[in-house]
Amino acid sequence: EAKHAGRDTYRFFTAQMNADVLARLKLEKALRQAIENEEFVLHYQPKVHLNSGRVAGLEALLRWNRPGYGMVPPNEFISVLEETGMIVQVGSWVLAQACKQIGMWLRSPSGPVQVSVNVSGRQFLEGDLDADIIAGLARHAIPPGLLELELTETSLMANTERTSDILSRLKQHGVQISIDDFGTGYSSLAYLRRFPIDKLKIDIAFIREVTNNPDDAAIVLAIISMASSLKLEVIAEGVETAAQLNYLRRHRCDQIQGYYVSRPLPTEQVSAFLLQRNVLGPPADAVQAGKT
Ligand code: C2E
Ligand code: MG
Ligand code: MG
Ligand code: MG
Repeated sequence: EAKHAGRDTYRFFTAQMNADVLARLKLEKALRQAIENEEFVLHYQPKVHLNSGRVAGLEALLRWNRPGYGMVPPNEFISVLEETGMIVQVGSWVLAQACKQIGMWLRSPSGPVQVSVNVSGRQFLEGDLDADIIAGLARHAIPPGLLELELTETSLMANTERTSDILSRLKQHGVQISIDDFGTGYSSLAYLRRFPIDKLKIDIAFIREVTNNPDDAAIVLAIISMASSLKLEVIAEGVETAAQLNYLRRHRCDQIQGYYVSRPLPTEQVSAFLLQRNVLGPPADAVQAGKT
């Protein structure tokens, strides 16, 4: 009886594994076609200065407009692009597209706006990332400071030498560098100082419960104070509530990003957003003071 059940289980797993392998192959094939047919698009999520309420910049976030499926978010395909190496090609499309868009905003009523682009570790290993980026900026006559690269601690740890060379050249050129998902990567800040970093992005995992979990609050405050001592900018990602915003403002976090301010927007909706002077409205205490 037990043996019989065991055999059924085995058969079930085999069928499931075959289905997984087939689904994965199908996804890879669809992604190769997506590159060919230019099915990728960028959405842009605003970042806001907490003291002025002004837009500080935008983060470019990849979407796959897959025929028959709608807009597919990156967590459903980025890992496949990374594992297959297709991320090198898609990543260079993302950078070229972002540069083109920065140039268009620069010469529109919105004026100059900084855009950050997420870069995978693998993009540093193949090709000439620094030369490509510098050429992309020149092609659209963009001041290099309008481009920021977001790298995770994990991708920095993976390949130090080549990565730090490329980053140094880009930094020298004026491109900004930020560490994404900061606090989740098991690296020491001493280690990260080998890289020319401008900014830390506190991971959403610490922001979610920051107003009611003392451990998360302690981590967030430590990151803010460390950033301040090292003269790095600090931004909190994943801010969804006024309580989180007020907490971060009270503790002198520089910038926030999250659904509370705006979801990532398609390009057509960004210009209207950029024309607002203060996207947060007056601070709660100023409103209070005005009333009394
Ligand atoms: P990330 O760079 O840490 O981006 C932040 C993610 O959090 C985005 O998800 C964003 O839409 C989401 N988010 C923003 N505000 C909130 C909020 O208030 N609440 C919640 N729950 N989520 C929020 P998205 O767009 O699905 O991207 C996921 C990840 O995919 C990114 O994480 C990044 O690691 C990767 N990714 C996106 N675009 C690219 C790209 O062009 N190249 C590479 N290599 N990776 C990319
Ligand atoms: Mg990011
Ligand atoms: Mg992040
Ligand atoms: Mg994240």
